[in-house]
Amino acid sequence: MLLSVKGITVHYGEAIALESVSLEIVEGSCVTVIGANGAGKSTLIQTISGLVPITQGEIWFLDKRIDGMAAHELVKLGIAQVPEGRRLFPDLTVLENLKLGSSVRNDRAGITQDLEEVLERFPILRERRNQKAGTLSGGEQQMLAIGRGLMARPKLLLMDEPSLGLSPLLVSELIPLIRSINERGISIMLAEQNVSLAFGASSRGYLLQLGKVIIEGNVDDLQKSEIVKRAYLGGLSSYRAKRSSRK
Ligand code: ATP
Repeated sequence: MLLSVKGITVHYGEAIALESVSLEIVEGSCVTVIGANGAGKSTLIQTISGLVPITQGEIWFLDKRIDGMAAHELVKLGIAQVPEGRRLFPDLTVLENLKLGSSVRNDRAGITQDLEEVLERFPILRERRNQKAGTLSGGEQQMLAIGRGLMARPKLLLMDEPSLGLSPLLVSELIPLIRSINERGISIMLAEQNVSLAFGASSRGYLLQLGKVIIEGNVDDLQKSEIVKRAYLGGLSSYRAKRSSRK
């Protein structure tokens, strides 16, 4: 097993954000975690990345127990994140942002090779390599965030809602992109509210609701599941209400 999350609980102060969550990712697979706004998807990703502590349970990566380890150590072990909202450095160039993704590595030749591969994969980033990240479009920024994650040469890439803020056309283009990254041998955990992206790119999935795993299984079964349809559609409507109330 590549990643085993075993019964973890996470608190923010008194509030429980995750409760006895267990999840497994087999090496080479793409697993999705779906759930409405506030279900705990980002918390799960932040926790696996070592940015949020657990109050109960264990997290294992390959044969190593990793809960309690520092975030940069986890990147060295092979866990990289593409955070929600991209979190780029807008005043740094595309190249500088990409290079930051490899800052925990010291294999120069490998870094050069991976940079070339990322620029090959995303020709628009090559074109804009000396432009400040803040001047890119939303879709280009998402490519840059993914490219930066790949620059860590991860074994496991944690992607937090890559669809956020993208047009339906760009979202549909993420499916073959995520699949091709997965086919390169990088395992993926994809947290999403957008089920068409989540199910289109992944083979297994988990539904999170209010910090708990409600159902898990292969994507074909989840797609047919009444629980997913009901829970998820309910979640989506509250998500839309929340987003529109922000305007
Ligand atoms: P989103 O789509 O908004 O990112 P999510 O499924 O990723 O949703 P989380 O962001 O993990 O959900 O939030 C889970 C719960 O924890 C929510 O109730 C949220 O309000 C709460 N929460 C998240 N971050 C914090 C924090 N830093 N301090 C306190 N509570 C938090």
